[in-house]
Amino acid sequence: MKYISTRGQAPALNFEDVMLTGLAPDGGLYVPESLPHYSEAQIAAWSSLPYTDLAFEIVQPFVAGCIPDADLKAIIDDTYSEFRHPAIAPLVQLGHNEWLLELFQGPTLAFKDFALQMLGRLLDYVLEKRQQKVVIMGATSGDTGSAAIHGTKRCSNIDIFILHPYQRVSEVQRRQMTTVMGDNIHNIALKGHFDHCQAMVKASFADQGFLPEGRQLVAVNSINWARIMAQIVYYFYAAYALGAPSRRVSFSVPTGNFGDIYAGYLAKQMGLPIEQLVVATNQNDILHRFISNNQFEKHELQHTLSPSMDIVVSSNFERMLFDCFDRDGAAIADLMERMNTETVSIPATAFDKVRGLFNSYSVDDAATVDTISRVYEDSEYLLDPHSAIGVKAARECWQDRSVPMVTLATAHPAKFPEAVMKAGYPDAPPLPHHMADLFDLDERYEVIDNDLAAVHSFMAANIRA
Ligand SMILES: *Cc1c(COP(=O)(O)O)cnc(C)c1O
Repeated sequence: MKYISTRGQAPALNFEDVMLTGLAPDGGLYVPESLPHYSEAQIAAWSSLPYTDLAFEIVQPFVAGCIPDADLKAIIDDTYSEFRHPAIAPLVQLGHNEWLLELFQGPTLAFKDFALQMLGRLLDYVLEKRQQKVVIMGATSGDTGSAAIHGTKRCSNIDIFILHPYQRVSEVQRRQMTTVMGDNIHNIALKGHFDHCQAMVKASFADQGFLPEGRQLVAVNSINWARIMAQIVYYFYAAYALGAPSRRVSFSVPTGNFGDIYAGYLAKQMGLPIEQLVVATNQNDILHRFISNNQFEKHELQHTLSPSMDIVVSSNFERMLFDCFDRDGAAIADLMERMNTETVSIPATAFDKVRGLFNSYSVDDAATVDTISRVYEDSEYLLDPHSAIGVKAARECWQDRSVPMVTLATAHPAKFPEAVMKAGYPDAPPLPHHMADLFDLDERYEVIDNDLAAVHSFMAANIRA
């Protein structure tokens, strides 16, 4: 499988090289040159596979030519052996035809484990084969950092540096990063906001001269294709459990960067009979505003109770737009360029395609808290704030109640005690048993000023030979 850039000006790469880089050199994102499409009979043939066997079938074409089947199987089995629930992605019923897909059974309690635990192992495999060492640098508002650290803690060919905004992530989130000990793991608490962390990572990818000879940076945010690929699997898995392919299924997806819902869109393009895809946003609602009235307009960042969806622009949206523009890279490059400085609309032919694919809804903090309390009252199920946004949007956008609606539950409520307690829940929700000692463990992190040179010199001093 070859990968091409959404802006049409970069050479095609294979899976390994795509995984080991960030953005394409033309500023675009990599997507598969062509997507596999499966017949209903083929889809039906996988309907009773366990999660890991299904993951193998879905992922295999994307890595073909780079990773032999037996090795891929071993990587996938190892990845999901760390999940606590035997179903890996269990479904829970909330109401008639209304379901939650629990994607927080992995080691760091958020859906990012599905992709990042696999990415760490894929990187380790490829780097070992190539006898190459790399540096991971990433910014996190909480969940990406812990999942990436956990996924790479045993990788001898990777030094990982994760920047989080100093005193601006929850204590559970911070401790999930800073209590993982290893001489390849480095947490930087940057004296600034998440945007500053992100800007610093972006500047570092653009000029990697501060790295030792022969090293390169690898991205762990959802611009990395390998993350998206791993997320396609659970759409199939949930749909099968509810009767696909003979029955259609809808999904509601709490999203900020459009990463998770883009994986659902891909599942649909690959042949999975998905009825509705609901884009659920918080007050940072650029996606909702665009899908409802064809206006791409950056607004200032708002800090919400669902911090993992606090974004200004949604990077993965470009991947989906590329398809809606019939893969015209020059048109996408022009659109993205203009978006930096003005409010843009897209031609009606492309917009009609977007409208045909997605519904959207934006949920503010008050409605988030209200949804957590209502669902708890009705069914004694405690939602985290991100999942609550998904449930609220699902209820608002659900068109045909005879089609099952699945909301992706993206985090465990113990990660976000503030929102849960605002909803009237009396205490911070307890952590699962396997991390009950989180508050007793030693922490290690470096507080650094919001200064690029200071961060680079810390990194240069800590990258192992
Ligand atoms: C990252 C994250 C999201 C949003 O994911 P996207 O990649 O933006 O779709 C939603 N919920 C939680 C808990 C997250 O950590």
